[in-house]
Amino acid sequence: MYPVVFVSLGPGEADLITLKGLKALQSADCIFYPTTISKDGTKKSRAFDILSELGITQTLIDFHVPMNKNRSLAIQSYESIAENIKQRFKNNEKVIVVAEGDVGFYSSIHYIADKLEQYNIPIDQIAGIPAFIACGALAGIHIVKQEEKLIVIPGIVTSNDLQLELEKGNVIVIMKTSQSEKAIKDCINQLPSATYHYFENVGVKDHEFYTKNIMDISMRKFPYFSLMIIHK
Ligand code: SAH
Repeated sequence: MYPVVFVSLGPGEADLITLKGLKALQSADCIFYPTTISKDGTKKSRAFDILSELGITQTLIDFHVPMNKNRSLAIQSYESIAENIKQRFKNNEKVIVVAEGDVGFYSSIHYIADKLEQYNIPIDQIAGIPAFIACGALAGIHIVKQEEKLIVIPGIVTSNDLQLELEKGNVIVIMKTSQSEKAIKDCINQLPSATYHYFENVGVKDHEFYTKNIMDISMRKFPYFSLMIIHK
């Protein structure tokens, strides 16, 4: 039987998948990919957009995980995905689960991996380019150099904590910036001398945005796919 393969799709630009990831997709029987459902009920999936651009035509199965506070709904959803994967694994199908960026970097599909491990289903993981690495390339910066430490903050933070890290000389990456928009803007006001690199939808045609102008950042409403890199 084939192990279930977790394939990293890269941050948004189809070309940024690895050759290993692409070959795995091309030889799959079915591919599970995440979607989000917006307030007006429309489904969106960055993973699907990347798969289409790569010309992947195998059986594609979307899964949606409710993001509301009721964790039991999310858990039910992961359980039913894992159940579906288990059946296909037993039928000797080559099953793939994909996620944007790197699958092992703040990706919620780790819940599915945990479930599969409980079922003793073997898993292979294929590395990919996480969003912050693509952001550094877009800005043309060296994210960290020499002895600098990198702190990665997955969303919630206070302005005070940001300033403390910067004062220590640490470089900060903030993911899910929409969860801390006010704290980040307060930090910019209180410490305008730091360098704030702000990114949206990196690698996504017509939606990519980058600036280090603090006035522009302060006026921006941070969407889900936004990220910051801050240097003292
Ligand atoms: N596994 C992903 C991270 C998923 S968490 C990775 O390796 O990068 C989701 C967060 O990643 C988003 O809130 C955003 O901060 C960041 N992100 C993912 N793709 C992005 C993109 N194309 N542009 C900017 N930020 C992105």
